[in-house]
Amino acid sequence: MLQDVHEEPIPVSAAARRHVELTVRSWLGLPEDDPTPVPAMPERLVRLFLRSEEWEIASRDQWGNFEHGLADNALRGALWEPEVDQWVEAVGRQLPSTARRLPMWPHGHRFALCLSHDVDAISTQYSRLQLLRLKRRELLARATRSKEEERFLSDFPRAYSLLAAGRGNDVASATSESMERAIAVEDEFGIRGSYFFPVWPPREDSPYDCLYEADDRYTYRGRQMTARDIMIELAQQGHDVGLHGGYHTALKLENFLHEKHLLEDETGLSITTTRQHWLHWDARITPRLHQQAGITADSTLGYNRNVGFRAGTSKPYRFFDVGQDCVLDLIELPMVLMDGSVFSTVALEMDLARSKRLAKRIIDSTIATEGCVSLLFHPENLADPDTFALYRWCVAYCMEQGAWGASVKQIELWWRERLAKLAAAGDTEVAA
Ligand SMILES: [Zn+2]
Repeated sequence: MLQDVHEEPIPVSAAARRHVELTVRSWLGLPEDDPTPVPAMPERLVRLFLRSEEWEIASRDQWGNFEHGLADNALRGALWEPEVDQWVEAVGRQLPSTARRLPMWPHGHRFALCLSHDVDAISTQYSRLQLLRLKRRELLARATRSKEEERFLSDFPRAYSLLAAGRGNDVASATSESMERAIAVEDEFGIRGSYFFPVWPPREDSPYDCLYEADDRYTYRGRQMTARDIMIELAQQGHDVGLHGGYHTALKLENFLHEKHLLEDETGLSITTTRQHWLHWDARITPRLHQQAGITADSTLGYNRNVGFRAGTSKPYRFFDVGQDCVLDLIELPMVLMDGSVFSTVALEMDLARSKRLAKRIIDSTIATEGCVSLLFHPENLADPDTFALYRWCVAYCMEQGAWGASVKQIELWWRERLAKLAAAGDTEVAA
């Protein structure tokens, strides 16, 4: 007989139930004090939405992630269905026509499309400085090293500062097949996206971390620019610039704060949105850490090796910390489809035709439930023709279907404004 893989189930607290009830009412657009009764969400969906299993199951994958193979909805074959949203949709259809409801999205849009990019690399080429950092990273990750390799590491600060002093002679990497492709699609459809940038060096080294820093030079849209200039220009153009926190920021507040402050110092921007690099994110620790660091919206909730609905929803919501039994002031926007999940050899490894069919299925079920198609495409992956074709197809299809295209920041601001209206509606007329 199969053993139950779960450790002891954690009971759903009264505070968690109240949070679920208020979240459902917010998705339905019902003011908090509206007397319209709403049925209680089924227990299985409550636990899926709260991510209870991520507190109950200790197992993690080799990168410390709760991966889809551990998830109840994946085991039931339901990861590709927004089960929570489908239940909410059915409840909405039963509400009396007299119920006063706020529309889910602005300007009459039926659903949202959120474009986001984890900028693991700005270009597909390495500069000499980046190659030097790469060699250091590879050597640090080795269990044993030769004397010559040890010498390289001890000599690294000197060699690095020498090369950095002559940075002007380093070849500026072209961004025409990476960053510029992401921007071009957004410009074509008039959408602003989210760009999440890492910083270098991290406070704690990891073999998974990114390798460029703010002073690195690129040829971007025909001009020589530093990474810093690119970030600042993106923000000036209305894009959302957030932190792509390195591998060791997910579990340690001081590491996360180091990177957030470094990015803020480098750009002069206030950083309030994030997605964790490698989707290294632990429900038990990372959301609380984000709140403590002054992050107001996160979009890490998805899987590296599959697409779909990790919490049964694609909609924004305030994250509930099951361990602390409290609501966080952190808007979570689940990520439903990532390039790597579809194409990578450690994930679904699809061809283009099948990837489009899968994307269409995910998008159509999101549209049917008034959700948000939150996509992650890495700029450097857009050099691959299939990845670029899937990206452009997803954006074009969503826009044809009437999406509101927005960044994580724009969605967060819309959602906070909507929550405030729902809380303050009182007896007054609910205005869209
Ligand atoms: Zn990343």
